[in-house]
Amino acid sequence: MSQSDSTSSGEARPVVLRGGTVLTMDDAHTVLLDADVLTVGDRIAAVGTALEVPEGTLEVDAAGGLVMPGMIDTHRHMWQTAMRAYGADWTLTQYFVWYYLEHGKVFRPEDIYAGNLLSAWESLDAGVTTTVDWSHGLQTVDHAEAAVDALQEVPGRFVLAYGNIQAGPWEWATDRDVHAFLERRRTSSGDRLGFQLAFDVTGDPSFPERAAFEAARELGLAVTTHAGVWGATNDDGIRLMHENGFMTPDNVYVHAATLTTDSYQRIAATGGSVSVSTESEQSAGQGYPPTWQVRRYDIPVSLSMDTSVWWSGDLFSAMRTTLGADRSREHLEAHAKGETVTAAHLRAEHVVDWATRGGARALGRDDIGRLEPGAKADVVLLKNDSSPVSFPLLNPYGHVAFQAQRGDVHTVLVDGRLVKHENRLVGVDLPAVRRTVEATVDHLKGALGEETWQQGMHPAMPGDDEVLDNPYQYTEYKSESTHGARGSVFGEPGSGG
Ligand SMILES: [Zn+2]
Repeated sequence: MSQSDSTSSGEARPVVLRGGTVLTMDDAHTVLLDADVLTVGDRIAAVGTALEVPEGTLEVDAAGGLVMPGMIDTHRHMWQTAMRAYGADWTLTQYFVWYYLEHGKVFRPEDIYAGNLLSAWESLDAGVTTTVDWSHGLQTVDHAEAAVDALQEVPGRFVLAYGNIQAGPWEWATDRDVHAFLERRRTSSGDRLGFQLAFDVTGDPSFPERAAFEAARELGLAVTTHAGVWGATNDDGIRLMHENGFMTPDNVYVHAATLTTDSYQRIAATGGSVSVSTESEQSAGQGYPPTWQVRRYDIPVSLSMDTSVWWSGDLFSAMRTTLGADRSREHLEAHAKGETVTAAHLRAEHVVDWATRGGARALGRDDIGRLEPGAKADVVLLKNDSSPVSFPLLNPYGHVAFQAQRGDVHTVLVDGRLVKHENRLVGVDLPAVRRTVEATVDHLKGALGEETWQQGMHPAMPGDDEVLDNPYQYTEYKSESTHGARGSVFGEPGSGG
């Protein structure tokens, strides 16, 4: 934090963004033209035209730009960002083999730290002010300490969703050391750091996950779970959660792509929300991106990017692909019946809502995801005067969803503090982040060996494979609708083409 950003009392200096098109995302989705947003301390103080501001307020010229609430990503495996783009050609099976079965264990605490650090800065750069770190590589409490250390070094808002794919949730979620860690880091963190528990429900009829749900209840933490993932989780998991009384409004169902009406009705009836990772579902194979279904049941939706081992942590692409997938399915369903879609159900305004208020609702916070007096001062200005894509600015929601991109993120405030300004991150030591990540890449390459490392990046072509029927090594239980994913999934170096 530079001197100029703070007042003498250490509070964030007041900031006014002047003369922008303001998407308030209030209940009425009010859009204001040529309007100002004033932040004082960690709160939005006023939204309106020609605002009077306190002396010493930093003036940001938002003319020609769009001002919106900071975006919220409700599911990202931030520890995997140290392997950015490594798995670009993976399927979900190859992902499971690499992380869950073969190499996830080689990550040391400092490697979790490295991925989280890079991913956290990436969020702020893209205007994502709140990110849920779906942290399922926490083999030890030391790994968890490292995850939180990284999140607390970056001036964004984060939720650590504690998880561990190397052990059963009934084991780690009931571990007294894990509870002590959660209590300790919760009490020492302000409201820029929250916690959830992150685990999947396999559908095993003995429901061993019960102990983990009870632990979450005891700790007062929400549960986020990969639900409706082809080959991994299905309706059985939802039904078991429901029958045992663990479907609550704070549950987040990630993907929810391979489910039937019965499960969607149970989710709708119990008030939970769905985190849709459209880019992930389209590429990896969890199932068709489900918004075209869940919107029929009025299930709340938030957006997420899942992992930067394939995709970047950028909700512009989430909004774009979610609109595309929903409309694509709607057209396809109609064409199969010989009909024509003449008006689209899903609008640009809906996906902007999901990227902001949808995330806030999923996290049970009504003080983020909107620009209204009293809300947290998490604000994004999209403005790029040198870009031919910045004008004409006719349809603000359409501009955000289909035209804007990360490079257009001009200014970002979190808790009223500037974390990006004039298109550059504030207070980041990117060379140091780079060195940290390079050390992790060196470690991973060394632990795997060059040949295995290269094979992992270049998966086998179709046909040269065998069956993998259970990604969870901590249980023998195999999900019923698992039709046999194909494995021996990595070819010889270079043979993947
Ligand atoms: Zn995930």
